[in-house]
Amino acid sequence: MSDQFPEQFVRWDTFSSTLWYRTRAARYRLEGTRCTSCGEKFFPPRTGLICPSCHARAMEPYSCAQTGEIVAVALDDLGFPAVGYGDILPRVQAIVRLDDGIHLMVDILQVSDPGEVQPGRRVHMVLRKHKREDTGAWVYGYGFVLEKG
Ligand SMILES: [Zn+2]
Repeated sequence: MSDQFPEQFVRWDTFSSTLWYRTRAARYRLEGTRCTSCGEKFFPPRTGLICPSCHARAMEPYSCAQTGEIVAVALDDLGFPAVGYGDILPRVQAIVRLDDGIHLMVDILQVSDPGEVQPGRRVHMVLRKHKREDTGAWVYGYGFVLEKG
């Protein structure tokens, strides 16, 4: 903290066990928040913040849909080994529109042929080993797999 940055901020390139612990409901169950006034849904969850649509301050937990459709796909075959993803290459990333309208950027897992990951394919959420933290312990989070057919 300093005069220039009076609020504490999180460096996303540094692993924080406490941050990952606090966000476990979102990572394990896709738990977001919903505005109790206008009903707009948010993921990642907004807590203690003003709803951008109606300016109300009341949010409640909301379980996002765990199925959806791929909107866009990007293949990552370089990776960022320094942040724990180097051992799951190629990494197929996609923008998924959940059935309740929320968009997420996710990893598509258990893909034998990256060419079969196309916009329009149905996917569902799975709990997966997400990455290794600095201590070597695994952190779990959500991923998505293609639905059959
Ligand atoms: Zn609202």
